[in-house]
Amino acid sequence: MGDYVLRCIAGGETLPEQYTLSCSEHAGLIRTEYAARQLTVRPELPGIFRYSDWLPVHGTLPTRSRPVTFQSRELCRELGLPNLWVTFTGYYPERECFVPTGSFKELEALPTTVRLAENGGGTLVVASAGNTGRAFAQMAAEFGTPVIIVVPESSANSLWTVTDPKVPEAVKLITVRGDYADAIAVANRITERPGYVPEGGAKNVARRDGMGTVMLDAAVTIGRMPDHYFQAVGSGTGGIAAWEAAMRLSADGRFGCDVPRLHLAQNLPFVPMVNAWKERRALLLERDMPDAAGAISQVSAPVLTNRAPPYSMPGGVFDAMMYCGGDMYAVSNADAAEAGRIFSDAENGIDLDPAAAVATAALISAVASGAVDSQDTITLNITGGGYARVREDLGIFPVPVTMTVDADEVPEI
Ligand SMILES: *Cc1c(COP(=O)(O)O)cnc(C)c1O
Repeated sequence: MGDYVLRCIAGGETLPEQYTLSCSEHAGLIRTEYAARQLTVRPELPGIFRYSDWLPVHGTLPTRSRPVTFQSRELCRELGLPNLWVTFTGYYPERECFVPTGSFKELEALPTTVRLAENGGGTLVVASAGNTGRAFAQMAAEFGTPVIIVVPESSANSLWTVTDPKVPEAVKLITVRGDYADAIAVANRITERPGYVPEGGAKNVARRDGMGTVMLDAAVTIGRMPDHYFQAVGSGTGGIAAWEAAMRLSADGRFGCDVPRLHLAQNLPFVPMVNAWKERRALLLERDMPDAAGAISQVSAPVLTNRAPPYSMPGGVFDAMMYCGGDMYAVSNADAAEAGRIFSDAENGIDLDPAAAVATAALISAVASGAVDSQDTITLNITGGGYARVREDLGIFPVPVTMTVDADEVPEI
């Protein structure tokens, strides 16, 4: 289970197994290659770990969190798409979705936590716009795994857990006077010290393969890979993960050969990857994200505001788009809100993460423009939702702020 090697995509060589985040010789991502060419789903294992064959872990953690794929009759009818499937990662008990922190960042946090423990451990340092930090705070609360979470001050109230922490000192929350880019800079300075391990973002293979379980769950449930995959992206790591999972499914042989087209959406006015995709591999600061701070302050989905996404690097978003085909979408706050309402009306009033509403709006516009055919098989990745129900059903424990620092400070922890 989970037997694998790490391979450098640019150089092609295998790398020694450790909590390696990059190749010392080449730029670009490293990737897992699993011994199991065919996927055996293991429903006897908890939550996401049913896909352990293609996760870089040997053990598991007790959890119910996993993506769940279903057809919404109402939504299919409303959008005129009979072969639309939703893959939902969030809290929606009527649909057997029990991800307590409400977003697909928990798909990343679970295998990352196991893999780090299996590779020497350490204190994980996570920079987050909110959802990633909350997922790792939940790991710390449930399992006592130490983590330092660095977020912009404005995200502090999205940091909570559903578990009263057993070891309250396991989680330290540092808020930064600045935006997500400043939080990343502060986190980087902390990881320069021994004993602190950077979570790694897109470079973290456990993150990518954890997010890739969305594609696995869709293909296993539908019985084949979909023709189209829709997701809202900030870093685009989920898009890369979908591509990598699709290549594994293609090699498996039982789910079709053709990988799905990727339809990746960003939130106006901050749409750097959409701008770059129309023209080139390079992501250009001035051209693709003019007045980044101003644009970021206006989006409804702050988790989509990464200023340094893994777009150009070998194995990154550009390569994923070139391989799979598809398109990128710029979605307004108003269109996202309307799409979120349509979803909510179709599905028991469940509230979507604003990012998931952006993905739904992209799907609606792709149907309108004819980019997808109404008979095509489509997976809509609902990356987060059900927060209102979490508060009602489970109750939440806010994560206390350990300290607040300026963007150029090195926190003394
Ligand atoms: C992080 C996040 C995204 C974007 O994911 P990436 O693939 O890393 O760009 C989308 N939706 C939600 C709810 C998220 O938390």
